[in-house]
Amino acid sequence: MDKALLALIKISRTVGKNGQLTQGGSGNTSVKMAPDQVEGGKFMFIKASGTAIGDMSAKKGWRRMRLGKVRGIIEDKKLSKLSSKKREAQIARRLLAACSDNTKGNYRPSIESNLHSFLDKCVIHLHPTAVGAFINSKNGKTELQKLFAMEKFPLLWVPYANPGYGLAKKLLVLCRRYEKKYGRLPQIVFLQKHGLLISAATEKEAIGLVSITIERCKKKLSMPAVKKDKKPDAKTIKAVKLIIKDVFSRNMGKNEQVHFYNNKIISIFANYADTKRLLQSGPLEPGEIVYCNGPAVWLEETEKNQIADVLKKQIKKRGKSPAAFLVKKVGLFVIGTAKSASVVRQVVSSSLFVRYNAQKFGGISALTKAEQNFIYNCGA
Ligand SMILES: [Zn+2]
Repeated sequence: MDKALLALIKISRTVGKNGQLTQGGSGNTSVKMAPDQVEGGKFMFIKASGTAIGDMSAKKGWRRMRLGKVRGIIEDKKLSKLSSKKREAQIARRLLAACSDNTKGNYRPSIESNLHSFLDKCVIHLHPTAVGAFINSKNGKTELQKLFAMEKFPLLWVPYANPGYGLAKKLLVLCRRYEKKYGRLPQIVFLQKHGLLISAATEKEAIGLVSITIERCKKKLSMPAVKKDKKPDAKTIKAVKLIIKDVFSRNMGKNEQVHFYNNKIISIFANYADTKRLLQSGPLEPGEIVYCNGPAVWLEETEKNQIADVLKKQIKKRGKSPAAFLVKKVGLFVIGTAKSASVVRQVVSSSLFVRYNAQKFGGISALTKAEQNFIYNCGA
């Protein structure tokens, strides 16, 4: 097996094992090959869409791409003239066409392949909860610069850009500027309201940098102190499930399952006095829209008419039903299949923790209306 592919599998499985790093298997990884003597050119192995990062093996979960072709996409000036819908579709097609391997079937390379192509040999891109508190707060950039002040080469902060073309273009410009100034590519890159990009010359160094970054961020974070409340009773849980199921099917014209969660973090925020206010800020990052149709909806009462009113209002506002409801002193209710609900639970838990901690750094910085609309219209 190629050494670069071996390194990619190792990196992917290492970060994939850690649930704090990869909610719902999200995130992507890549390793660039040395120029190929036989095929003449440079290649990059990258995680494929559709499989969890930790499930990568020699047989599946990755694609091999021609690096020159991937880089050429974002440098193509014609793309900027297209509408965002047409542009994103064309980029996806060209990324697939840049693949060069024996993979059968329609396994797409990560839609974030462009970002990887500009960086150093080994790249790890994640959306970690510990980083979220900084990239989603008003003073996050300053706080991170303080945390990483002792690094020989400074971190790179990338202001928010729409996922896909917008972000890739911005990163390309900033990487070039960084290289000119410091004579090398950045190793630690924070993407505002999105995630973390780590790049290094070896897989060991890249994995090490992920750990250092997460540990350093985590030291500044905490959970609210909440008085232990008694467990919610089974009767209430069952009743709320039925109400949500019923209101959903009446308003959306289809039946869905409703799941209940009350793990440690959910229970803390269901009982925390200020959760209502925390959830009033809009979606923090694209994933909160893509997976949950916006932040969890806070419910103070479990009475049928009240739940129906809130749900109807949200459907009207967002055009879709929100996926998650956090009920005061009870827990989290999620609409969807067992698999999708489990991802929603992870996104909601992470978002609550981020919202609480962002207050220490000047307050929550959520997606603007225009940024939200791009995700609602284009997907991410
Ligand atoms: Zn991402």
